[in-house]
Amino acid sequence: MAETATPPKETSGPETRNFQAEVAKLLDIVVHSLYSHREIFLRELISNASDACDKLRYAALTDPKLREGGEDFAIRLSVDPAAKTLTIADNGIGMNHDELVANLGTIAKSGTAEFLKAASAKDGKKDVNLIGQFGVGFYSAFMVADKVDVISRKAGEEKGWVWSSAGQGSFTVAESPGAARGARIVLHIKDDAKEFLEAQRLRHIVKTYSDHIAIPVILDPIPREKKEGEEAPQPETLNSASALWMRPKNEITAEQYKEFYHHVGHTFDEPWHTLHFRAEGAIEYTALLFIPTQKPFDLFHPERKSHVKLYVNRVFISDQIDTLMPRYLRFVRGVVDSSDLPLNISREMLQDNPVLRKIQAGITKRLLKDLKDRAENAAEYKKFWDAFGAVFKEGLYEDFERKEDLLDLARFKSTASDELMSLKDYVGRMKQGQEAIYFITGENAAALKGSPQLEGFLAKGIEVLLLTDPIDEFWVGTVGTYDKKQFKSVAEAGPDLSAIAGGEDKAKTEAAAESVKGVIEKLKQSLGENVADVRASTRLTGSPVCLVADTGGMSLHLARMLKQHGDGASMPIHRVLEINPSHPLITGIEKLTGADFDDAAFLLLDQARIVEGETVPDPAAFARRLSAVMTKGLV
Ligand code: ADP
Repeated sequence: MAETATPPKETSGPETRNFQAEVAKLLDIVVHSLYSHREIFLRELISNASDACDKLRYAALTDPKLREGGEDFAIRLSVDPAAKTLTIADNGIGMNHDELVANLGTIAKSGTAEFLKAASAKDGKKDVNLIGQFGVGFYSAFMVADKVDVISRKAGEEKGWVWSSAGQGSFTVAESPGAARGARIVLHIKDDAKEFLEAQRLRHIVKTYSDHIAIPVILDPIPREKKEGEEAPQPETLNSASALWMRPKNEITAEQYKEFYHHVGHTFDEPWHTLHFRAEGAIEYTALLFIPTQKPFDLFHPERKSHVKLYVNRVFISDQIDTLMPRYLRFVRGVVDSSDLPLNISREMLQDNPVLRKIQAGITKRLLKDLKDRAENAAEYKKFWDAFGAVFKEGLYEDFERKEDLLDLARFKSTASDELMSLKDYVGRMKQGQEAIYFITGENAAALKGSPQLEGFLAKGIEVLLLTDPIDEFWVGTVGTYDKKQFKSVAEAGPDLSAIAGGEDKAKTEAAAESVKGVIEKLKQSLGENVADVRASTRLTGSPVCLVADTGGMSLHLARMLKQHGDGASMPIHRVLEINPSHPLITGIEKLTGADFDDAAFLLLDQARIVEGETVPDPAAFARRLSAVMTKGLV
């Protein structure tokens, strides 16, 4: 992906390349802005170093030649006061030439792209304080350094390389004979950032942001003039260097949990929920899981990937295991560490592993239980639901076993209230004689509320759920019942209406339907194939007409969604025109004949389409008919 404005030179000197345009833009912000929490650069670099060690540890399980140089992983910080450099060195997986160019010359991370968008959105003014929120990874080094060298040799390869840049549009890459395995990041510290050359400051930053890192972060003694009789200073380990999830809960502070969440999830918000537990019994594992506050950027990517990291006895295995977390909980971040899986298990084998399935069942149960507890606080739970409800509802058709639990946790808007409510609330408010849970689907709640299909329900005070997430179309058809009550679309519920809240209307409705039999026949003739049927409505009170789905067919909203995605372009939408027998327009048009009746019939159909949010298929004909009818009204 790297833009290579300058082609590699043929000489053995350094090769110069330009940064990808977005990186150049990002660096411009990072280099030229004053930022109040610059110390986070160290968190980012230590986090990268720790990931690099994790990667090598896993790769070496199956490829013994990668073990050359040992597996005592460490991240070393060293300061050269004379040269004004701070070096962060790891003995992890390292990068070869192409990886240096690709990883440190382009933006791989969507978080960074999001940062750029947000930073330039604010009236052209750059809000650099967002850096802390998004984290710009490696590039944050340029907040404190006016030049950065990365000397790296990839594990298992012979050649080492040095990547160098002053953060001004281009970087160079050259061979670096004798480079040690891993990566050494040398920061040439800016004059106004000398504090980062002091041991005390470094100690404090590591303790604050990186204490949870499972690999030791060691500060080498800082050279200074040796005083008479003094012992030579020793390297000093700055962090606890034990996997945070293995520590007892009561020894971990909220701040430490948060820092770990940021590290493990590559996130920068507050965790909305933290769940830390150890399961003992047939299968033993420890889980430390977080529900974010903000939606991760890839929440709706088609792969629907899980991001929870799997460790076996503290060795990182993978964060790409689909069986670890149900897809509808893919927003969860964190780690699961089990000693009941073999260390040398391949990622492929993990995809279909009975132990993992049991772990998945265990963590899902705990998460749902915690959600149930948190749902007691409606205001807090709303934050969760607003961010993740649409994803969570995928579970309603994917996880049939937990259907009841998931339905209990789901929240809805309805005709009765704009506040989110549960199905339990709905059932508690059902009218006498009402047997089903009624819903209507569409794009937004406000438009749905005005739908003529709801008129009869509103008139009788029957509550209807307003379902506006695309996913609703799918689960609502398969989930069947809640508390033994059937979910039923208002489009299919016409006949129920007269039965609910007393059957005295029934005779009246039948009489009205009888009275418009003639109009119905004429409308069917005029409209022909444009509708599947025409019938008298029990649901309309104010409007003359509405369109409903043919019973058993897919809903109009779903049909439109499929059409938009090109999946149903050739599929005719079967729908029924319902007419309101007591509306003067309906009773009035019967006397019209010929072209006058046809005009009126098509105007009624077009009107029903417009209310449904559709476009009129033949706008010219619509305009001509409307003008004709209006003219007749005037003269
Ligand atoms: P992120 O770490 O979020 O992916 P960065 O910009 O910090 O974004 O790093 C980009 C990539 O560079 C990393 O994904 C990783 O592949 C590589 N990288 C960074 N630091 C190191 C390191 N110390 N050792 C090996 N690879 C590294």
